[in-house]
Amino acid sequence: STPTASHERPGPPPGELDVLVVGAGFAGLYALYRLRALGHRVHAVEAAGDVGGVWYWNRYPGARCDIESVDYCYSFSDELIQEWDWTERYPSQPEILRYINHVADRFDLRRDITFRTRVTALTFDEEAGAWTAVTDHGDRVTARHVIMATGQLSVAKPPEIEGVGDFAGDSHHTGDWPHDGVDFTGKRVGVIGTGSSGVQVIPQIARQAAHLTVFQRTPHYIVPAVNRPLDPGYVADLKSRFAEYREQARNHPGGTHRVLHEDLAVEADPEELRARLEEYWRRGGPDIQAAYRDITRDPEANELAAEFVRSKIREIVRDPWVAERLTPRGYPFGSKRLVLEIGYYETFNRDNVRLVDVRETPIERIEPEGVRTGGPHPQLHRLEVLVFATGFDALTGAVLKIDIRGRGGRSLRDKWSAGPRTYLGLATHGFPNLFFMAGPGSPSVLSNVLVSIEQHVEWVADHLEYLRKNGLTRSEAVLEKEDAWVEHVNEVAAQTLYPRGNSWYLGANVPGKPRVFMPYAGGVGRYRRICADVAARDYDGFALS
Ligand code: FAD
Repeated sequence: STPTASHERPGPPPGELDVLVVGAGFAGLYALYRLRALGHRVHAVEAAGDVGGVWYWNRYPGARCDIESVDYCYSFSDELIQEWDWTERYPSQPEILRYINHVADRFDLRRDITFRTRVTALTFDEEAGAWTAVTDHGDRVTARHVIMATGQLSVAKPPEIEGVGDFAGDSHHTGDWPHDGVDFTGKRVGVIGTGSSGVQVIPQIARQAAHLTVFQRTPHYIVPAVNRPLDPGYVADLKSRFAEYREQARNHPGGTHRVLHEDLAVEADPEELRARLEEYWRRGGPDIQAAYRDITRDPEANELAAEFVRSKIREIVRDPWVAERLTPRGYPFGSKRLVLEIGYYETFNRDNVRLVDVRETPIERIEPEGVRTGGPHPQLHRLEVLVFATGFDALTGAVLKIDIRGRGGRSLRDKWSAGPRTYLGLATHGFPNLFFMAGPGSPSVLSNVLVSIEQHVEWVADHLEYLRKNGLTRSEAVLEKEDAWVEHVNEVAAQTLYPRGNSWYLGANVPGKPRVFMPYAGGVGRYRRICADVAARDYDGFALS
């Protein structure tokens, strides 16, 4: 699994492909595997030096998946399931990357991937009924169909702070971490951002650095992961019935095995409520959101869960001033991505860690020596290393970085200027034979993304088989169906508390990005049934020719 050195980059193959796959993360790799097995001429182009997607790029210390390893894996090959042994409840980035490399080796996928190559433009030729891709190496690749496996969180977003480029020390974004790591020993370090990545990296840096300053804008609702080694007996049991186990996840709202309670928090006796939430807190993981049916829907129920998390912060964090600033208020529990932690709150009990609340003391600019904050007590925080845990241009970022031109030369950036518009999250009118993997309009980041990726790849593979069998070469989403789907996505979101959080689900972290709730909140199981039904009705809503 040696990465291809740039000087020996073998380019994409000549001649027209049946399918071009953009990206070689979990989605791109499975698309490549599946379509190749069906006899399509398929090739993938990947900007990174090797396979892995987010797990290739996000190598910061503490990087870990928030879905349990036994769920966050492929299910398409029983041999793969049987031979791979996860070691921890929540897999770390190095372990996931080893898994993905194992998959690439085992199914000999690298021979059909061009690495270190970015697709910069995609143009649909109406007469030929095919796409032409142009890369940053000047390659031109033509393909009948294109699969956008470009990821949900693959475009790192640097902080929008004056003077970022002036910093004299080292600075790194968690989403583009150096392969040989960063040594924080004896250093004065600053971390900007306290979302999922920040919460994972902060305890790790605090243990190494001489001093750590955490710059926080929004305190999140953070619950314990309770990571632990996996019990071999438990794993053996799951392996013996994995097909059935996975089938449950496929029909579950989140694509996992979370138990969904039917009773209501607002009707629970306060002691019973506290006891149940305590039990979830001790067990760890995101399931606490489903402790009562109304937590994600009813503001009053939600507030009960939110208050429970707040009480936990007050219990753990010794300094009441710090605890207060770490306490989330003013938006619903779970309306932004729920963050899992391993030793995060305890980190603020250390002598070498300081919290700066940038809502009280805003960052004015970054200077060569550090970060200058204003407010009542202006200060220069002297730093040698700066870590930006400032997130991603989520869901649409990677797609819209590419200049995509559909029928009549229409630009996708223009079409989506007020927010992404898709039919089933899979396709968009005016752009035939172009399919999106686990992106906007689908359960995507609201789900176990691996389950969603498998569903999308399999749906598109079936669709291409259908076209081939019927002598068809073109598939395009019908505008009215697309409009109806966008409306449905919005309606379903409006029934939840998600739109009330100022989150990256809504594009709120990127200045100027339209505020649209992008993923489909109707659940994985329901979504799968809708897609299957469309397929069963001869791809109703797709104009085929
Ligand atoms: P990615 O892994 O993003 O891969 C897309 C690939 O496309 C990238 O390698 C990128 O380089 C490449 N690419 C993009 N544009 C181009 C272009 N123009 N030309 C060529 N190549 C291109 N999901 C969960 O379900 N549970 C979790 O707990 C979870 N944790 C996460 C933690 C982190 C730190 C991050 C960043 C993401 C996490 N995710 C999680 C979401 C994650 O995005 C998915 O789980 C999954 O890995 C996505 O796989 P993918 O193949 O769709 O996309």
